[in-house]
Amino acid sequence: MANFATHISVAAVGAGLFATAALKLGQVDEPGAVVLTLLGTLGGILPDIDLKYSYPSRIIFSVFGMMAAFASVFALREQFSIIELWMTATLVFLLVRYPLWAIFHKFAEHRGAIHSVAMALLVWLGCTSLAFHAFGQSPGMAWLSGSFAGGGFLLHLLLDELYSVDFMNNSLKRSFGSAMKLIDTGALIPSACIVLLAGLFWLTTPPADALLWFGTSEFSDALKNVLLPQGGWFGTQVQ
Ligand SMILES: [Zn+2]
Repeated sequence: MANFATHISVAAVGAGLFATAALKLGQVDEPGAVVLTLLGTLGGILPDIDLKYSYPSRIIFSVFGMMAAFASVFALREQFSIIELWMTATLVFLLVRYPLWAIFHKFAEHRGAIHSVAMALLVWLGCTSLAFHAFGQSPGMAWLSGSFAGGGFLLHLLLDELYSVDFMNNSLKRSFGSAMKLIDTGALIPSACIVLLAGLFWLTTPPADALLWFGTSEFSDALKNVLLPQGGWFGTQVQ
């Protein structure tokens, strides 16, 4: 199993590379590329949220609290004054960061139902739907947001699996196969809830045209034009 520092670094680098490509392909603007990188990084530490006093759990519940606080400010800014918005946002943040965090850890088991490919699917579709409905993003940006968060999540599972291979002795540790499971067969009810929720979010996602574009020949042509320098490297002249 890879440690926190490895997970956060690999996810940040991976998300940064893909965000740069999305920017160059004109699929996202500059602030959007930063948001995508942060989402991918967050997705990369998300599977270990079930370790109660770990960094991932504290960081993620703080970020969730901030997102919920902002969502409440966006929803109430017309009718509330600044002081009322401050009070509401603070209350929402604290509720997510402490009571919700404590309730979550009463039920979550480390490397249980959450540490699975089904959960990555839920993160992908859930984040896409929330970015569209709660944060007013365009369908394209919403799908990219979900894909970066879900992609970071999958990358985490893959890293854990890779770390269970002992490269020096060419043997497999006992944890092999436990990180990248489709669903947690030891926890059928939580797993069923994850699949059901993913299905519900699927129904509320915006049109996926912007995502499907990445499967078209238009995308591969665009990529061919911008992947490598057309002249010399870094603006130098070719003879
Ligand atoms: Zn893990």
